[in-house]
Amino acid sequence: MPKHLPTHLNPRSPLVLDTRELPRRPGVLRAVNRTVAAPADLGVELIGVPEGADLNLDLRLESVSEGVLVSGTVTGPIEGECGRCLRPITDSLVVPIQELYAYEHSTTDETTDEDEVGRMQGDLIDLEPALRDAVVLALPTNPVCREDCPGLCPECGVHWDELPAEHSHQQVDPRWAGLSQLTRQEE
Ligand SMILES: [Zn+2]
Ligand SMILES: [Zn+2]
Repeated sequence: MPKHLPTHLNPRSPLVLDTRELPRRPGVLRAVNRTVAAPADLGVELIGVPEGADLNLDLRLESVSEGVLVSGTVTGPIEGECGRCLRPITDSLVVPIQELYAYEHSTTDETTDEDEVGRMQGDLIDLEPALRDAVVLALPTNPVCREDCPGLCPECGVHWDELPAEHSHQQVDPRWAGLSQLTRQEE
């Protein structure tokens, strides 16, 4: 695999950070605060950030010796459904994000793997992969509408909250049914 893929990043894309304004001098900081439309499929199967929802990026870009350290928080709404009862869930998410992006052709760039450290493409940083990782990690793998959601009755599919306490589908064992018939006849 080629180490340097051609630059396809669009500096105007909302999830691309342009560092031209950030001097390449360790210790220099720039704040970036922007609200972007959430990209598609930002989440996991049952829960995620709806496409197009407002995602706030509150980031700090810091020049380090061989690249740019991006850190901060991402805030946005999440929607999904309860894994036990399928009721809709709406919530919000505040995710910390931190990723180092190495300058092209820096020692870090030449000596690390692609999955260890991010890569800059010229002056541009593609924030999307780190954003996806951070959001997916922060999402619950088994989302529930509330901690003690009892779920659905496996027999009739009705929410336990809406069923009387003594609700059951217990079938009388056919052998006992026969017996009880017998008893009735004897009476
Ligand atoms: Zn539930
Ligand atoms: Zn039932």
